[in-house]
Amino acid sequence: MESCIDEILITEEEIQNRVRSLADQINRDYQGKEIRVVGILRGAFIFMSDLVRNIQVPVSVDFMAISSYQEGMESCGIVRILKDLDKPITRQHVLVVEDIVDTGLTLQHLKEVLATRDPASLKVCSLLNKGERRQVMDLKVDYVGFEIPNRFVVGYGLDFAERYRNYPFLFVLKPEYYRNGG
Ligand code: 5GP
Repeated sequence: MESCIDEILITEEEIQNRVRSLADQINRDYQGKEIRVVGILRGAFIFMSDLVRNIQVPVSVDFMAISSYQEGMESCGIVRILKDLDKPITRQHVLVVEDIVDTGLTLQHLKEVLATRDPASLKVCSLLNKGERRQVMDLKVDYVGFEIPNRFVVGYGLDFAERYRNYPFLFVLKPEYYRNGG
């Protein structure tokens, strides 16, 4: 069978090592506290499950789903909450877990929404960051797994047209797979 992989950007081993060191840093920063980990569906679900398994302070989890992209590759600039949190975050130490920060529009909107709900603290952990694509310049991402170039990546939870989330590494698809809609 022909492979859809053009290039592997980050291997499974590199991801797992980095996730462990992010968790170490989080364990140190949140010592003596309890964290409400908020995963952003669907792209962050695999990263979040690996991350929380390495966190040793008490955690609870909740999820939000947000639409910022149509079924494709470009941001439409409109951010909608498709699924809100199940529980209030008042006085909780909230750690938002994202798959990737690109233009930053999604995260900026999300942080504004969550900040109005009076959390004790609000931080963000993103697996990937595409700094060169940023449109929101003063956006703080507290923990970043990997800085990546301006390429559209899939795997380890990230999709193109809902596919490829199940691959354990991050990769770029062959161009014909993007053209054919996945
Ligand atoms: P932003 O609002 O920062 O431009 O977009 C963030 C969202 O765009 C991410 O949560 C993700 O869903 C999507 N996105 C941005 N870049 C990529 C990419 O390279 N690959 C995939 N699969 N999704 C991306």
